[in-house]
Amino acid sequence: MNDSPNILLIYTGGTIGMVKNFETGALVAFDFDQLVLKIPELQQLDCSIDTISFDEPIDSSDMNVERWRALGDSIYTHYDDYDGFVVLHGSDTMSYTASAVSFMFENLTKPIIFTGSQLPIGDLRTDAKENLITAVQIAALQKKGKPVITEVGLYFEYKLLRANRTTKINAEHFEAFQSLNYPPLAVSGVHLKINTSSLRSVNRRKKMVYHTHFDNNILIVKMFPGINQEILQHVFSSEVIKGIILETYGAGNTTTKSWFISMLAQAIKRGVPIINVTQCSGGSVEMGKYDTSVALKKIGVISGKDITTEAAVAKLMYLLGENLPLKVLKTIYETSLRGEMLEN
Ligand code: ASP
Repeated sequence: MNDSPNILLIYTGGTIGMVKNFETGALVAFDFDQLVLKIPELQQLDCSIDTISFDEPIDSSDMNVERWRALGDSIYTHYDDYDGFVVLHGSDTMSYTASAVSFMFENLTKPIIFTGSQLPIGDLRTDAKENLITAVQIAALQKKGKPVITEVGLYFEYKLLRANRTTKINAEHFEAFQSLNYPPLAVSGVHLKINTSSLRSVNRRKKMVYHTHFDNNILIVKMFPGINQEILQHVFSSEVIKGIILETYGAGNTTTKSWFISMLAQAIKRGVPIINVTQCSGGSVEMGKYDTSVALKKIGVISGKDITTEAAVAKLMYLLGENLPLKVLKTIYETSLRGEMLEN
């Protein structure tokens, strides 16, 4: 019997799976059944790899909640058959999908590692091979027969990051992602160094719970000087809106104009949660630190603390999908569920 870990590689689309058609010069999706033939190095890894692919691989700009669910389902239906999962995904919205997947799987006991690349796998200078090989290696890592990583990670350019802490910060550099508010889970150099103290611990006695319902009736509103009252009032009073992410300045500040505060207060009274998330890439919202955020705290705006906008979107859709009363949603939103924000 072969005891080496079994890994399921799921291709959703994106640059990583493209090769150049030498006749036309265009990038076309790569036949994933041929993966091990194209990357023979994968055979040197001490694990067996099965691959599945979305029927129609997509550019990740076309990702949506139905496809999050399709991806979640393909992990969930094979959850007991594999020791780890690697998801190949376009980098553009990878942080959103990976955050969503982190909320889908409660009490995860196996690694789900997202990766992709800036250059197609068939390109001479590609970053795809290293990203893919090390992502598989990380998903297959075991200690005493148990996976070392028991959370959703994102591996890119020599770093494994907690997926729901990441943001795409560069459209060109190989180092495309950053996690400014949480240290890397692992760094790949001559050795693969695991940052054990940063890993999420797992309680194997708790059953894994799979959540699938995301409510996407939400909007991100980014503050900027001169923001228009009429336009905002139109948006905030919309009947279809069920939640708003407010991207504020610095430590969670907004204009103190009375029309603005009463507009937020009215929406909250109607049961619409408003999440305060900072526009800064690093640091945390601290409502009440400056005078400009005291009123927000008073009217019941929810603190997103140091969450990324990507994780804030996924968390809001996830909690709205659970149909919670606003007070309960506020308490749960301000609690770290999957390591996506400060603990307190
Ligand atoms: N536009 C591509 C995508 O996100 C870029 C990439 O694959 O990295 O699908």
